[in-house]
Amino acid sequence: SDDPSIGSSLQPCIAPAREECKWGDTTPSVAKKVKVQSWFQLPDGNWDLVSIIKTSGNESLIKLSEEKVLKVNNESLVSANPDILDGVDDLMQLSFLNEPSVLYNLQYRYDRDIIYTKAGPVLVAVNPLKKVPLYGDEYVEAYRRKKMEGPHVYAIADTAMREMIRDEVNQSIIISGESGAGKTETAKIAMQYLAALCGGSGIENEILKTNPILESFGNAKTSRNDNSSRFGKLIEIHFSETGKISGAQIQTFLLEKSRVVQCTEGERSYHIFYQLCAGAPSPLKEKLNLKSAKEFKYLTQSSCCSISGVDDAEQFRIVEEALDVVHVSKDNQERIFAMVAAVLWLGEVSFTVIDDENHVKPVEDEGLVNVSSLIGCDIEELKLTLSIRKMEVGNENIVQKLTLSQAIDTRDALAKSIYSCLFDWLVEQVNKSLAVGKRRTGRSISILDIYGFESFERNSFEQFCINYANERLQQHFNRHLFKLQQEEYIQDGIDFTKVDFEDNQDCLNLFEKKPLGLLSLLDEETTFPSATDLTFAIKLKKHLKSNSCFRGDRAESFTVSHYAGEVTYDTSGFLEKNRDLLHMDSIQLLSSCKCHLPQIFASAMLSQSENSGVGPLYKSGGADSQKLSVATKFKGQLFQLMQRLSNTTSHFIRCIKPNNLQSPGIYDQGLVLQQLRCCGVLEVVRISRSGFPTRMSHQKFARRYGFLLLDHVASQDPLSVSVAILHQFNILPELYHVGYTKLFFRTGQMGVLEDTRNRT
Ligand code: ATP
Ligand code: MG
Repeated sequence: SDDPSIGSSLQPCIAPAREECKWGDTTPSVAKKVKVQSWFQLPDGNWDLVSIIKTSGNESLIKLSEEKVLKVNNESLVSANPDILDGVDDLMQLSFLNEPSVLYNLQYRYDRDIIYTKAGPVLVAVNPLKKVPLYGDEYVEAYRRKKMEGPHVYAIADTAMREMIRDEVNQSIIISGESGAGKTETAKIAMQYLAALCGGSGIENEILKTNPILESFGNAKTSRNDNSSRFGKLIEIHFSETGKISGAQIQTFLLEKSRVVQCTEGERSYHIFYQLCAGAPSPLKEKLNLKSAKEFKYLTQSSCCSISGVDDAEQFRIVEEALDVVHVSKDNQERIFAMVAAVLWLGEVSFTVIDDENHVKPVEDEGLVNVSSLIGCDIEELKLTLSIRKMEVGNENIVQKLTLSQAIDTRDALAKSIYSCLFDWLVEQVNKSLAVGKRRTGRSISILDIYGFESFERNSFEQFCINYANERLQQHFNRHLFKLQQEEYIQDGIDFTKVDFEDNQDCLNLFEKKPLGLLSLLDEETTFPSATDLTFAIKLKKHLKSNSCFRGDRAESFTVSHYAGEVTYDTSGFLEKNRDLLHMDSIQLLSSCKCHLPQIFASAMLSQSENSGVGPLYKSGGADSQKLSVATKFKGQLFQLMQRLSNTTSHFIRCIKPNNLQSPGIYDQGLVLQQLRCCGVLEVVRISRSGFPTRMSHQKFARRYGFLLLDHVASQDPLSVSVAILHQFNILPELYHVGYTKLFFRTGQMGVLEDTRNRT
């Protein structure tokens, strides 16, 4: 199966050559020669490839792979594919398309470090969790020159590039998967290919350097991934008329702010905190009064300060270098690090009780002093912000003293706000650098790397937003692959036996319906000062109990039937997180800062007074701040994203995590299967196979192949010419359909015509 034209150092494609793969339901004579094997599920849940010794009635005698003989009911056996189909590179080629066969095929390849497999139009990537020899210049060349055609991210990026030019349509590469499945790495691999293929001006290097920057400020070690992205990202890469990269634009979604002030045992906060503490050169360390990471409270609460195999100091240098490349000046870099340090020092601020009502004020120690000098605010102002809250009640201004927990909340809210402002500011700087004076054609390839569906023991507001986003993306996926396909058949007058596919519109309605949907009800409850997470849960149950995708549970929780399964959400913290309130005093404090990062806090001010009409506004808790709720803002971003994607040709990559241990070589069937189900891989193959995936308009078909006609056709209209071509080439009627405007073909039918055309 080796392609002799490929350099010997390249790994050969292990899949059998295509001819051999044309095994199928239509060649029973060959099938008979093969020993009959089936899949049998063992008590541990794994599937075993067993040989059938004898079948009588509805029972069979089978031999397990470990030689044990067992009598089982025929219904417990699932057909296995003949072994010449082992490791085919497209699941479409499997004769028997069932879960164990798909699992086995992916595993067969995975065991040989072939991590990519096609599932019809979708690329499946199983995370190798180690370096695999599949990348680099030689591979880029091989894919560029089409010497290699096996499934690969390179092939996807290449197709996107070609289709962008050929069809003059923008493209998108949508990467999804669970945390740790490899989305971010896959996105980088796609970017590297495009940079290699379409680079030249130097801007491609800037684009690549945005990765270490965004990862430093937006990624963290979690229990599932040592380098987990805590934000979603869309990068739109722009091209010039000559097909060269001319610039890029990055949009980020929903940074997990809470991580700045607290994270779970064994996890870390954002990488930059540790990198700065470990890597800052001495003068900077002194200037920012930095201690080691282990000495900062915000960083020690989870008892994890390092990542095995990662040198934070070295990473710091990489980030600095990347900031240079995207034209962030040394002065501004220092100011950025000052903000990072300010957040760490805020965590050091402690409080003392000042009266017998448990009111507190901050202790005036090095923490407070450092914060005020780092962010450039008056220390007295800072003290006030952390000890009182001014409120407007009716026409009166009143001053409320803070209790310890209120003061801590205020301090943490300030820290989160400073950090997220810094993150947004940084993205903006990067965007300025990537957009500078480059001529644009309007052609682009967007790469989306966004958190996959999440379902944990306990699911909160974050999972609620993430899963809502995935529900939207799933609909885009469905529409793109299934619905459009069906609608096209129907529109073209073709009787197409409907293939069932799950439409998730009901679930989306549950989220989006006004006024009685999850998001509206959440926003409404968020505006009531007296509302609590419990009253919110009760409200949901009252209004949504008849919705088939919703189930009210005990007390504060509720369950949603997502396309990928049921998830139970615990409402505690929902209202607070949705408000994401920064009190007026804190806003005023930030706006008074003489911090030299231009406009850094502008977004905090703006988002607090935003009135763009996307959603309801609310006044909260008597405070005089008005702003969009987090969920509404996110929904707005999501709608914008979907709009953008709907104007592109999408390419889908589904990343799969082979185990939960972040270790190579372990393939956990149950875990993989659950992910395959979540992303509908099997459905895609089934539908693609059952349909007529290749299509061409009558005009185009007649133009392209008309000259091959041997006999004169009476009528020269495209339809007649097309039909004459089909007859001349003896294409069997069951292999195509003639629609009103298009011809539809089963897979592989165009090959003959193309070959003839190319020979002529
Ligand atoms: P999250 O949602 O948490 O951000 P993710 O899907 O983006 O997760 P990645 O960070 O891309 O996951 O991948 C996790 C780890 O898996 C990487 O740090 C890397 O070690 C490994 N990995 C992923 N893809 C590859 C690959 N193609 N080759 C080698 N290692 C990989
Ligand atoms: Mg990631």
